[in-house]
Order: sequence, then C-alpha cells, then structure tokens
Amino acid sequence: MKRILVTGGAGFLGSHLCEKLLKQGNEVLCVDNFFTGRRQNILPLLDNKNFELLRHDVTTPLFVEVDEIYNLACPASPIHYQFDPVQTTKTSVMGAINMLGLAKRLKIRVLQASTSEIYGDPSVHPQPETYWGNVNTTGPRACYDEGKRCAETLFFDYYRQHNLDIKVIRIFNTYGPNMQLNDGRVVSNFILQALQNQPITIYGNGKQTRSFCYVDDLINGMHAMMQTPKGTTGPVNLGNPVEFSMIQLAENILELTNSKSELIFKPLPQDDPKQRQPDITQARNLLNWEPKTALWDGLRKTIEYFDGQLRKE
Ligand code: NAD
Ligand code: UDP
Ligand code: UDP
Repeated sequence: MKRILVTGGAGFLGSHLCEKLLKQGNEVLCVDNFFTGRRQNILPLLDNKNFELLRHDVTTPLFVEVDEIYNLACPASPIHYQFDPVQTTKTSVMGAINMLGLAKRLKIRVLQASTSEIYGDPSVHPQPETYWGNVNTTGPRACYDEGKRCAETLFFDYYRQHNLDIKVIRIFNTYGPNMQLNDGRVVSNFILQALQNQPITIYGNGKQTRSFCYVDDLINGMHAMMQTPKGTTGPVNLGNPVEFSMIQLAENILELTNSKSELIFKPLPQDDPKQRQPDITQARNLLNWEPKTALWDGLRKTIEYFDGQLRKE
C-alpha cells in the first residue's frame, strides 16, 4: 500500500485516477484548489478512510509525506485556462517546481500530466514524441501550451540535474463522465446541446479533426506509465489514434441522443489546431497499452452521465 498524492484530484481525470488508486488499496491525498474541480466528482470517495482531501493551490509550496506524485493540477479546457491566463502559466510552472521540489526532498517518483497541446498546430501528422511542435508564444493558447512546455523542461532538468525519478505523459483529447457540464470542450458542449435540442455549435467549417480517448483507457495508460522502471521517463503520448472531424463527432452524438438539434457554424477560435492524432507506437511498445473503447461506446456512457446530471439540475 502506498500513500499517493494526486494534484488536481477533484477534476475530471483526477477524480477517476483517485478512484482507481483507492480501489487498488492505496491511500490517496487529493490536493485541489477547486478552480475547475468539483466536490461532486469526489463525493463517492469522501467516505473512504484511505482518502484525504486538501484544499491547496499548487503555486505555493506543499510539505506533506507521500510515496508517489501524480501532478494533474491545471485547467484543461480553453475557456477555463484562458479565463486567468497568468494563473494558468503559474499553475503549470510554479506547480511543477513545487511538486518537483517535494519529490526531490522525499526522493520519490513524480508523473507530469502534459498535453498534446505542446505540439501546437502541428505540421507533422500524426504526432510522434520526437516532433518539437508549432506553438504561437504570444497567442491566447500560449499560457497553457507554453506553461506545459516549460513544465516538461523542468521535469527533464530535475531528472538530469538531480537524478529525480520522473515520468511525463502527453495526453490527447479525453472525454467521459465527470467532465463539467460547462467545461466548454467539444464533447461536453455537443452532448449538452444535443440533449437539450439546442443548436450544435460547430466552430469553423467543422473539418478540423481530433482523436478522442475514453477516460478509463487514458487512466489505465497513465497508471501503466507510473509503474515503468526508473529511467523510463517518456515523454509518452497517450490518446486514441482514431481521428474524427467535428462534423463526424456531431453526427455521432445526434444519432446516439435521437436529438432534433441542427448544426450551426460559429467562428473558429484563434490558433485552433487543424488536426491532431497521436502516434502511440511508444505507448504500445513500452506500456503494452492501447485504447480499448470505441468512440460510439464511450459517447454512450458519457451521454448517460450528462443526462443524469441534467435531471438533477
Ligand atoms: P480539469 O479542469 O477537470 O481538472 C484540473 C484540476 O486541477 C481541477 O480539479 C482544478 O480545480 C485543479 N487545479 C487547477 N489549478 C490548480 C491549482 N493552481 N492548484 C490546485 N489545483 C488546481 O481538467 P482535466 O481534464 O481533468 O485535466 C487534468 C490534467 O490533464 C491537466 O493537467 C490537463 O492539462 C491534462 N490534460 C487533460 C486533457 C483532457 O483531454 N482532459 C488533455 C491533455 C492534458
Ligand atoms: N518544495 C515544496 N515541498 C517540499 C520541498 C520543496 O513545496 O517538500 C518547494 C520549495 O518551496 C521550492 C520548490 O519546491 O520552492 C523547489 O524545491 P527545490 O529543492 O528544487 O529548490 P530550492 O528550494 O533549492 O529553490
Ligand atoms: N469546437 C467546436 N464546437 C464547440 C467546442 C469546440 O466545434 O462547441 C471545436 C474546437 O474549435 C476545436 C475542437 O472542437 O477545433 C476541439 O476543441 P476542444 O476545446 O474540445 O479541445 P482542443 O481544441 O483543446 O483540442
């Protein structure tokens, strides 16, 4: 049994990770400032004697005793990370420094939840880990992209300079239950609109693509990466390589919800990547991992969750 720190543990991915770690018999310390996280996500865990919740902002130092750290704290949806961009960069960079400092003092393993966003609007397709990316340093997405890039740099410098046991995963678009209804990302927007028979908002012409990974698959990959031997640092891409256009995503959701919603077209946000698909060769080879959930099945489970949430409101 380990005592494991999960920062951002009340968020979408963090809440699923906490649940998995508890099921395995670990103690979990969930640290979150509730910027985008919700108590409701971790409500079923609060009764568990092995679960502890600490309201704390990772931009300030944290002195606790744990055996392992998963660093997930950071808003992930464009509307949320652009709401207070300075805080977003601080969370990524100062949050990384504090978690690395904590891991260094305790001589423990630390995993960073990095992102496909570090590839920016990619000119190489699909994206292998060796691609260095195409990111606008001054645009509205930069607070997130560059913050996450700097966090990766810090992780690798602590590895080289202090021989710290680091793991870096680059997560591609992930969806599933516990996403906030107002998360603002495409899957939650389309499902909510379809369930309420409101127009589906397609940004741009809807031909831009993304690859969507169901949350359970992603969490299994994240956990598998944490179990690799010291020196297996990554970065490793984790995501579903099956690519869809936003129009195709909307059509799938309309069919699954039997919705009467029509498609409407809105301006494409600035610096919106045109395409994105992970090359997961490394994850297959190193972790023996690949996603198992088809989009159709994952969407069905997510729609069920959103439907339940709407009925509660
Ligand atoms: P989320 O917004 O649901 O969760 C982020 C959590 O971090 C929230 O609970 C929030 O309250 C907390 N948080 C934010 N700033 C904090 C701070 N300064 N101190 C303490 N807690 C703070 O997002 P998510 O989708 O669960 O993403 C989790 C991690 O995975 C993020 O680091 C994100 O960048 C990364 N990621 C997610 C995706 C995805 O598709 N979901 C893709 C790539 C990377
Ligand atoms: N830190 C922390 N918890 C710890 C140890 C360190 O939050 O248990 C913070 C510490 O406040 C510092 C950061 O982590 O700001 C980086 O620590 P490190 O030891 O690498 O650097 P230094 O303290 O020498 O600046
Ligand atoms: N998008 C859309 N309608 C929405 C929300 C998003 O067409 O209501 C598009 C968005 O422009 C982008 C894609 O869907 O091209 C994925 O957006 P999301 O914010 O989910 O994630 P990211 O851009 O970070 O991959």
